Amino acid sequence: MNTSSSITADSNPMAGKSEQELREQLADFYHLVSYLGWTELIFNHISVRLPGEEHAYLVNPMGLHYDEVTPENLLVVGVDGKLLRESEYKPNPAGFALHGVIHEHRPDVGCVAHTHTTPISAITMKDGHIDHNNFNGAQLYGRVGYHEFEGITIYDTERERMLASLGDKHVLVLRNHGVAVCEADIPLTFFLLWTVQRAAEIQCAAAAIPGPNVQLPDAVKQKCAEDAQRLKDNASFATLLFDAMVRKMKRERPEFA
Ligand SMILES: [Zn+2]
Repeated sequence: MNTSSSITADSNPMAGKSEQELREQLADFYHLVSYLGWTELIFNHISVRLPGEEHAYLVNPMGLHYDEVTPENLLVVGVDGKLLRESEYKPNPAGFALHGVIHEHRPDVGCVAHTHTTPISAITMKDGHIDHNNFNGAQLYGRVGYHEFEGITIYDTERERMLASLGDKHVLVLRNHGVAVCEADIPLTFFLLWTVQRAAEIQCAAAAIPGPNVQLPDAVKQKCAEDAQRLKDNASFATLLFDAMVRKMKRERPEFA
């Protein structure tokens, strides 16, 4: 996989959306991640593909907290993380290696989010996998790739291996590190990140309770994952969920309104 995926204006998962609409929705996503306590100081990114044929992406400026991201200060970068449009803010090209390679080679993906929350990072340390024996984890059955830790993911040389580890999945567990999730649009990516976060929280809590966990049959886990996909395919489902969470956040944190 050494060449960029070709993308036409029609095949772009963001076709039909305006840049301004995506800027506003992405700023809301950054604020939601902060509101939910999932930030890591000024680190990590959420990136969004812009409509059209060009490999152009919206991403947070280097040095701003997620709280400080606005529709206006989001940067436009290429797959290498370098600015495509001038800005008073600086990009973080090294930090974009993971996002850039997913966007470059997965034309079905419109949004990538990466977090290091404590439950997720704890799970990634264990010599095991995301447990699919709970409500949220079962929905992820067959959707998770795993990537061995090579250090901070800033080197171009690791890009191809991260891509191979993700394959055709939508969740990439970065062992001893965190997680990246990717989906067609912003609401779907938020919903997937929520599912992974909840699965990790429940897995950590269950691990602290003595005694064995009830193991679900593979067929039940498979059915859960397929049902979750069907819900996802109802495009309004994730949007309703995302918009409700944004409204709740803005009621409680009017500075984000
Ligand atoms: Zn990271």
